[in-house]
Amino acid sequence: NSTRQKAPLKQETLVTIRLRPLSDSELERNQKNAWLINQNSISQQNKYDPAVFSFDNINAFSEDNRLLYSQAAKNTVWSAMEGINGVVLAYGQTASGKTYSMMGVDEQPGIIPQAVDDVFSYIREQTGDKEYLLRAAYIEIYNETIRDLLSPDNTDIRFLEDRRRGVYISPLKEEIVTSPKQVMRIIQRGESNRHFGTTDYNIKSSRSHTILQIIIESRDSTSNPITPSSPIKSSFKSSRVGVTISQLNLIDLAGSEKAASDIDRRKEGAFINKSLLSLGNVISKITEDKGGHIPFRDSKLTRVLQTSLSGNSKISVICTVSPANVNEEETLNTLKFAQRVK
Ligand code: ADP
Ligand code: MG
Repeated sequence: NSTRQKAPLKQETLVTIRLRPLSDSELERNQKNAWLINQNSISQQNKYDPAVFSFDNINAFSEDNRLLYSQAAKNTVWSAMEGINGVVLAYGQTASGKTYSMMGVDEQPGIIPQAVDDVFSYIREQTGDKEYLLRAAYIEIYNETIRDLLSPDNTDIRFLEDRRRGVYISPLKEEIVTSPKQVMRIIQRGESNRHFGTTDYNIKSSRSHTILQIIIESRDSTSNPITPSSPIKSSFKSSRVGVTISQLNLIDLAGSEKAASDIDRRKEGAFINKSLLSLGNVISKITEDKGGHIPFRDSKLTRVLQTSLSGNSKISVICTVSPANVNEEETLNTLKFAQRVK
């Protein structure tokens, strides 16, 4: 019925700048911090008339990934548990702190391990009679080609579309998960599949996007209240009626820097920039909220996010930047991207 009004979409974008501390090697090379922070604003130091950029959060000179999680991810993760699609992504030049922010290190677990823990804590804290079915997939996009990191032999991966699922990748291995440990093991397995058997792993990994996708289904419990069972299921039996479904996408993007000078890399760089450019276009269109055509089809990355971003969603963009003078130009480019999507 075409006269029926659709409920307006609720889509929120949150933009956080994460300015990492100067690294030891930058300090050794006498690099200085080139940026001035004033509450939620950031501008170039030592400029006569600097551009001033303002954002939702600025996380400056902090190693603390817990703080980053509470600023930039927690709300999105909890909303995803309540049926609102979530995207948390790290954008920035290579070595600016994307992987530190998303994956973290032993002493400072990043957004991904914290989100994974939080998903299961959320379920434990529910007092109602809900049950949950969670699935995880781990995907890489390299040179505008999708790889299923949980099933690297999957070939001929394409996008399919139907009314119930929206746009989805097929074939794609989605594993049912019932604990944080299982999800982390999936990531480890996926990461080991990123080693292409080549020596230029670092180059390739800085040029590819990785996406951890958690699909969350919930519904009113069908379990017998006299013999209650775990709210975390490994399957939903019987009908699909009353199931709420949402996706949480946690993304470590390819480096946003300009490609190196040789021709092959320039070609690669063009592909990467195509996905990053198109991501910027899509998010800024959504943030403008003027309706109209959203160019999801322009890149693989935006196609992967189409289902999430076509519904009610929260998008958290974390732009990681280096404070060093040598990186001033790239940091400025990242701030401009952040400005566009906010
Ligand atoms: P990217 O993934 O963007 O290429 P990394 O996350 O690998 O960059 O960060 C580069 C280096 O800087 C790593 O050694 C990392 O541990 C360190 N680093 C990044 N961000 C921070 C931070 N906020 N606090 C402390 N060290 C950081
Ligand atoms: Mg990285």
